[in-house]
Amino acid sequence: MSIKKIAVLTSGGDAPGMNAAIRAVARTGISKGLEVFGVYRGYNGLIHGDIFPMNLRSVSDIIHRGGTMLYTARSPEFCTEEGMQKAIKTCRENGIDGVVVIGGDGSFRGAQDLTKRGMPCIGIPGTIDNDISCCEYTIGYDTAMNTCMEMVDKLRDTAQSHDRCSVVEVMGRNAGYLALNVGIAVGATSVLVPEVPYDFERDIVSRMKTTSSTGKKHFIIVVAEGVGGVMDIADRIQEGTGIESRATILGHVQRGGSPTVRDRVLASEMGHKAVELLMDGKSNRVVATQNDQIVDFDIEAALRMKKPFNFELYNMAHQISI
Ligand code: ADP
Repeated sequence: MSIKKIAVLTSGGDAPGMNAAIRAVARTGISKGLEVFGVYRGYNGLIHGDIFPMNLRSVSDIIHRGGTMLYTARSPEFCTEEGMQKAIKTCRENGIDGVVVIGGDGSFRGAQDLTKRGMPCIGIPGTIDNDISCCEYTIGYDTAMNTCMEMVDKLRDTAQSHDRCSVVEVMGRNAGYLALNVGIAVGATSVLVPEVPYDFERDIVSRMKTTSSTGKKHFIIVVAEGVGGVMDIADRIQEGTGIESRATILGHVQRGGSPTVRDRVLASEMGHKAVELLMDGKSNRVVATQNDQIVDFDIEAALRMKKPFNFELYNMAHQISI
C-alpha cells in the first residue's frame, strides 16, 4: 500500500532548526503528491485531533525562525495505552498513513509505540544537547553552540575588565557535548561535564593558580547543567583562589534564535529524507548523520546505541587552556 497522507509533529524540548525540518517535510511531501497534516503540540495534538492540512505556503517564512511553528509539548497522556489509542484513532479518522516525529529520545520511544500499533513513524533528531547516540549532529546543536559562544564572549569582556572568573552553566543534563565544544571555543580554563568526575582542587583551583602564575588574570569555567551547582562553584573558587568569581546560568536563551546555516541545511536534508523513507515503505526509522552523510537506523537499535564521550577532545581542551 502506498503512502498518501502523512503528518508531522514536534515533541519534547524545542530546538532551532525544527521549523526548517517541518518545512522540508511539508514541501517534499506535497511536491511528491502527498497530503501533509501539521500536528500541534506534539503527541497531544494527535490525541486531541488538533491537526490541520498543510499547503506549500503553510511553511512560508519559517526557515529562519527558532522555536517550532507547530508548538511542542510533553504529553504524559500519550505514555498510556488509552492515549496512544486516541492518537491512532485520530490518524485513522484522517486517513494518515505515516507520521514524522521531530524530537529527542523520548519522542522516538513514542514513535516506536505508534509504529507498533500500526502507524508507521520516522524520527528526526531535534535537540540542542546532541544526545542522540546514532547521530553525530542533531538539529539545533550548532545554533546552540554558537549562541553559547556569543554569550560567553560577552561574559569574557566583563570578566576581563574586572579580573574576574566567570562560571557559566550551559544546557546538558546528561550530556557534555555542548559544554565541551563551547568550552573549547571560548578558551575555558576548565570544562565540567557529567561524563567525567572532577576534583575541585586539581581541576579548577590548581589549574587557575598555575595559569595565574604565568600572568592570566581572568578565567572562564564552563559547567554542564548536569554537573550543576555553579553558584557554589563560584563561591568556592573565590575562597580557594582569592579571585572574584561570578556565576551565570545561560538558561533558555540557548534554545532560541535564528538557526545557523548548518542547522538549516541539516534540518532540510533530514526532513526530505524522512518523507522519502515513508514513501519507500519504511517505518520505525530515525534519520541521522554519520561522517557528514544522511543515514537512517531502526529506532529500537538507535535507542540502544551509546555515543562515546570524546575524551581526546576533553583532554586537548584542558591542555591548550593553561
Ligand atoms: P525528548 O523527545 O526531547 O527526549 P521527552 O523525553 O520529554 O522529550 O519526550 C517527549 C514526549 O514523548 C513525552 O512527553 C511523551 O509524550 C513521549 N514519550 C516519551 N517517552 C515515551 C515512552 N517511553 N513511550 C511513549 N511515549 C514516550
